Amino acid sequence: MNRLRDLVIVLGDQLDANASAFDGFDPAQDAVWMAEVAEESEHVWSGKPRIVLFLSAMRHFAQALREAGRSLHYTRLDQPDNRGSLAAQLQADIARLRPARLVMTAPGEWRVLQALRAVAQAGGLTLDIRDDRHFYGSVREFAAHARGRKTLRMEYFYREQRRRHGVLMRDGEPEGGQWNYDAENRESFGATGPGAVPPRAMFPPDAITREVIALVEARFPAHPGSLTDFAWPVSRAQALIALERFITERLPLFGRYQDAMWPGDPWLYHAQISAALNLKLLDPREAVDAAVAAFHAGAAPLASVEGFVRQILGWREYVRGIYWTRMPGYGELNALQAKAELPAWYWTGETDLACLRDTLEQTLAHGYANHIQRLMVTGLYALLLGVEPAQIHAWFLAVHVDAVEWVELPNTLGMSQYADGGLMASKPYVATGRYIQRMSPHCQGCRYRPDQSVGERACPFTTLYWDFLLRHEPLMAGNPRMALQVRNLARLDEAQRDAVRARAAAIRQGEVGSAG
Ligand code: FAD
Ligand code: SF4
Repeated sequence: MNRLRDLVIVLGDQLDANASAFDGFDPAQDAVWMAEVAEESEHVWSGKPRIVLFLSAMRHFAQALREAGRSLHYTRLDQPDNRGSLAAQLQADIARLRPARLVMTAPGEWRVLQALRAVAQAGGLTLDIRDDRHFYGSVREFAAHARGRKTLRMEYFYREQRRRHGVLMRDGEPEGGQWNYDAENRESFGATGPGAVPPRAMFPPDAITREVIALVEARFPAHPGSLTDFAWPVSRAQALIALERFITERLPLFGRYQDAMWPGDPWLYHAQISAALNLKLLDPREAVDAAVAAFHAGAAPLASVEGFVRQILGWREYVRGIYWTRMPGYGELNALQAKAELPAWYWTGETDLACLRDTLEQTLAHGYANHIQRLMVTGLYALLLGVEPAQIHAWFLAVHVDAVEWVELPNTLGMSQYADGGLMASKPYVATGRYIQRMSPHCQGCRYRPDQSVGERACPFTTLYWDFLLRHEPLMAGNPRMALQVRNLARLDEAQRDAVRARAAAIRQGEVGSAG
């Protein structure tokens, strides 16, 4: 047999048969390499839904590769000779297969890139790392955009993207005359609730997924989360169905209710396609083009379609640019010097804060929370509490099925925790419990009161909001966008300030918040 020419590395979030790694693939001399390794589920304490999604999607992709006649070296998690980490497994397989070269599409995580580079170097092999065509733009283009800018606001980048890729543009101007319809996208459901929201697209586990579920239950029994309701798309065909269902059933109201919350229902009008996109089962152009086509067909209003396009063509590409132009230092940032421990109940949902309990239970059950729950419930509480950014980053990365570091880290550290000191967000996203009260009915079923900052019934969000302003007053006073919030501090006299601080200290010591 001829010597193996290229060993094409495919990671769990690179499940795209048209990826650059496959350019020039010759079945007669090349082979694909994939490995399920425990380290990827254990370096953060990954939730079971996330582990199952990755492993099942990998196995479905492997099956498609075999059916397409591609030679594949695949290591299963339960194989006795599994080496446990990507680096160790690759090293062992290089020794066995003796390829002339390693090829891959640029990975989504800095840690993995370093590990694989080190393996190639140790083996004296070239590692040909190719641009990831999945994204609209390259990291080089983002770096050019960022050059010389002190802050990197998404809005300017987004407008550049719209122009460059000709999305929702008419004669060089934004469709409808405005770049942004955010103001129309902030409604709550009001007292009557969301009514009959179309049911979520569910994909009951097939034989492959069932086998993976059994494996994960046996191998990672203590990991957080539950698999009872696992129904995520795990193949390209299923991902396309999920996209189609979103475009026809949810997109028209996506914009209007983007920020709304409702107990027991994280899905609402959200697309639920982030995991499929991040595993590369879906191409972002497919999602954007389908939404724009719905607008032109008169099936969805511009405010919804623009809101959706902004998330994918704007935010998604922007956070990737931030990640790759700022790593490795970005992960270490802690501009607010936050040092508190993440409450243990983030991993169980056992808290008496009604909004957090609901969000945590959904997150653990499905590996999903919608954007506003992540930003204004789980993220906000950690920010107000002053949780060390590395701990809340590990939590976000572990429990959400769509979590891959390039997208999770900037969203958590930059947008949600202000740990980059304002590179991404012009001000910290801080609010009292009244924000949650406005956007959901959670507070009605809660033992706390969103309008109280001290006393037994004080809402911990509200107490911690004032405590946050007190702790960071000098820093926030220098931020024009925080001026109004900081000025309101003047309403508190010394005794009230002390009462807020005392209650905040009790919350931090765990005297408030745990269920039971
Ligand atoms: P929708 O709300 O329907 O939005 C449509 C699509 O837009 C999403 O599928 C996603 O691909 C994209 N999108 C929306 N907002 C963002 C954003 N801020 N950054 C990047 N893409 C975006 N998204 C992830 O994909 N993985 C993560 O690990 C992740 N971690 C987050 C952590 C925090 C603290 C916050 C505040 C946000 C995070 N997001 C993350 C962004 C966003 O919350 C999710 O993309 C979204 O909730 C996924 O659900 P959906 O597909 O129903 O999205
Ligand atoms: Fe959440 Fe506070 Fe409202 Fe309770 S009162 S649901 S803790 S915002």
